[in-house]
Amino acid sequence: MASTTYHIHIPIVSLLAMSDAELEETLSPGTGVELRAKLVLMQAAGKTVFTGDDCDQQDANGVCLGHRRD
Ligand SMILES: [Zn+2]
Repeated sequence: MASTTYHIHIPIVSLLAMSDAELEETLSPGTGVELRAKLVLMQAAGKTVFTGDDCDQQDANGVCLGHRRD
């Protein structure tokens, strides 16, 4: 049976509101400063959510569009 899986996404504004320690726990690997810089760049590129590096099916906001598995 075909199924579709989705990566979870987190609003970038929520992540930027976290402390460095919380950010490192949520988005490891990376330091708080590195992760924050990455999120700011994503925001500058027009994304509103963080979905993860291993997702290759995203809309312009960064939301996972789903991965079909047959
Ligand atoms: Zn995905």
